[in-house]
Amino acid sequence: MAPADGLRRSMKGLSEAEFRERFGTEEACREALFEMRWREGGLACPGCGHRGSCQLRTRKLFQCNRCKRQVRLTAGTVFQDSKLPLTTWFAAIYHLTQSKNGISSIALGRRLGVRRQTAWLMKHKLMRAMGTREAAKPKLSGRVEVDDAYLGGERHGGKRGRGAAGKTPIVAAVETTAERKPRRLRLTVVKGFRKREVEKIAERDFAPGANVVSDGLSCWSAVEEAGCAHFPMATGSGERAATWTPFRWVNTCLGNIKTAIAGTYHHVSPKHAQAYLASFAYRFNRRFQLDSIVERLAWAAVHTAPQPYQVIIADA
Ligand SMILES: [Zn+2]
Repeated sequence: MAPADGLRRSMKGLSEAEFRERFGTEEACREALFEMRWREGGLACPGCGHRGSCQLRTRKLFQCNRCKRQVRLTAGTVFQDSKLPLTTWFAAIYHLTQSKNGISSIALGRRLGVRRQTAWLMKHKLMRAMGTREAAKPKLSGRVEVDDAYLGGERHGGKRGRGAAGKTPIVAAVETTAERKPRRLRLTVVKGFRKREVEKIAERDFAPGANVVSDGLSCWSAVEEAGCAHFPMATGSGERAATWTPFRWVNTCLGNIKTAIAGTYHHVSPKHAQAYLASFAYRFNRRFQLDSIVERLAWAAVHTAPQPYQVIIADA
């Protein structure tokens, strides 16, 4: 299949052997991080703000040429203050990105040879980096399909789980080609399927002028407040609605995500649902860049502020 967007596509991930060849030693990992922070002139001295002329010493530590302050390679990144080797971090990045559904903390801990709690925290820090990176991407534009769902809710038959107690309501938005093939996905936890919530998402995530296709639920008309055009499609109800053509891709995405969450994680607390959704979207949006996704997530982690444990557990 020819790429519609001109991107070079790689749907083949890195083998473990290839991964180890690239990131199997501390030296290789430090070198990679150094390139990401330093070559782009991104590291400013926290003492004096001086850029670009600090000297590399052991590749763990930099010294500012101007004020002589020393800066750790990982300072100011997601890796800051971690006692774990960088090889363990890169291995975590590898395991989090190579399977479509991510990996549970238990399985990750086993793979890395660290305690489950340690694996959990690493995973959440890296998911924060994914979320930060996704939030910096351009808004969805052109044709955008939207749909509502409940995490843990029942989509098929019945009443779509709307209003179900204890469920987490989410909005899925997919930018598609004119042929209705999915390009990019955004997943957002909402307080409910209300106009105000839809308007907030549209303002943040949809470019003005986007053509938003929905199932006609009344809250979707609020996308017009953000300058989008709204095309409600009456789908009827039941099984047939879920497979009806204009929504095929959105429903495929949603179905996959629900299956993945049920199968991989068994239970995701509402508090962490947004982080998990962002990680799904992150992987989905890089599904044709699997050969470079390890570097991409390492780059995101280097360019995301530290995410201490207290911050991760405090978020609601
Ligand atoms: Zn300085």
